[in-house]
Amino acid sequence: MTIRVLSIASEAVPLIKTGGLADVAGALPGAVAQHDVAMTTFLPGYRAVMANLGKARAVHTWPSLLGQPARLIKGLIGANPLLVLDAPGLFQRDGGPYGDATGRDWADNGLRFAAFARAAADLASGAVRGLTFDIAHAHDWQAGLTGAFLRFAPAGKAPPSIMTIHNMAFQGHFPRTLFPELGLPEEAWAINGVEYHGGIGFLKAGLEAAWAITTVSPTYATEIRDPEFGMGLDGLIRTRQGQVHGIVNGIDTHDWNPASDPNLASPFTARTLGRRAANRAALEAEFGLEPGAGPLFVVISRLTWQKGMDVLLDVIDHLAASGARLAMLGSGDKALEAGFVGAASRHPGRVGVRIGYDEGLSHRLQGGGDAILVPSRFEPCGLTQLYGLAYGCVPVVARTGGLADTVIDANLAAVAAGAATGIQFGAVTPEALAEAIDRTVALHSQTTVWQAIQRAGMKSDFSWGRSGKAYADLYKSLLEAR
Ligand code: ADP
Repeated sequence: MTIRVLSIASEAVPLIKTGGLADVAGALPGAVAQHDVAMTTFLPGYRAVMANLGKARAVHTWPSLLGQPARLIKGLIGANPLLVLDAPGLFQRDGGPYGDATGRDWADNGLRFAAFARAAADLASGAVRGLTFDIAHAHDWQAGLTGAFLRFAPAGKAPPSIMTIHNMAFQGHFPRTLFPELGLPEEAWAINGVEYHGGIGFLKAGLEAAWAITTVSPTYATEIRDPEFGMGLDGLIRTRQGQVHGIVNGIDTHDWNPASDPNLASPFTARTLGRRAANRAALEAEFGLEPGAGPLFVVISRLTWQKGMDVLLDVIDHLAASGARLAMLGSGDKALEAGFVGAASRHPGRVGVRIGYDEGLSHRLQGGGDAILVPSRFEPCGLTQLYGLAYGCVPVVARTGGLADTVIDANLAAVAAGAATGIQFGAVTPEALAEAIDRTVALHSQTTVWQAIQRAGMKSDFSWGRSGKAYADLYKSLLEAR
């Protein structure tokens, strides 16, 4: 029997993306389809989404969805079914999904994503005629209240729900004044309901209500039991330990295939690594870097504390002095952006920086860089190291979360066994990162060893095969337990 799953996400490629969640939500329907799961994606109708819907039609109307007029639009995302919440008062505006053009959060984010979750709960509980689902699968805080609505105020029969944590650092915390607007019964205002430190915790509410909790790597699933990574919800995770699963993200091997990537000047495979040289030369030209014998490091990242970008800034002079070069693409904290722009002007020809978001350039960096730096303080899964592995752009990563699970450190034994796929380091400190950079420079100078590391990475399988099955198995187990 086909299992019908409603995947509730605030972003999904190719329609709207600010980070890894979009990649995962975009790929999941295809990943589970082979396992007899029919997944429908539910997205908010941001301007960018509404503008790119193609053939779509309205199938339902809410005269008042938490006070807002709204329609449900049915369309396609890739080849898979899509539902979109068209609530112009909440989502039709210029700027990003969560904030305005200056990066400031929208003041009504609480109401926006509460309405999104209310609609999701209506859909999942069969209140919209013609649409039936067996499982509600909610991603991150933006979809967090879905579980609470299903638990305390279902519009019909509530199905089992799953809450997936893509990043515990973003919890969706809103003031108590929002509570009366949600239409939830008083009993929901409880420590094991939606209440969180005197306000409402969207992610917390989702975790409390979910039949199962997943996060995006086994190591992160363990880490979030500790206060350092659990960020206030570690106690809840410890209580629910038996229902917490770590399922590592896959990558979309169609979009991210170095042999056929239209963004690359010179496509290549593990057998034709020599062709990467042309991509590297193109990158050097694009970033105004001097060619050199040392490795070309790349960074594709949000420029934030989580990503360890302040630590990278501390060692950038060391990197430039070691014979290496750096090409960076990122945006985020204004102080970090300014810091990296300053570093580029201090090291002309050695450090090149692009502030912004550029999908094509992110592919060119993976296809031409020698090594990708990912010095995250915490990393639930991480995707850029997976793209690096697939593209022979050797990941240099902090030993945390999904980075620890997906990269095999080039220690002597792993190199001898031909298993090494990257470089790992422990504490995210300037000293440890500088040492990792030095190790990378040394390994890169040994061409045979380096190419073996590149090839081992390119051969490792981070397609969705195994993870798609893991999600499908989880859906099945919940239906059996019901
Ligand atoms: P997170 O979701 O925490 O930002 P991930 O590594 O899981 O980190 O996913 C980041 C995704 O966003 C990757 O697909 C990466 O290539 C992409 N990305 C990050 N910054 C940029 C940027 N400035 N331009 C283009 N793509 C970017």
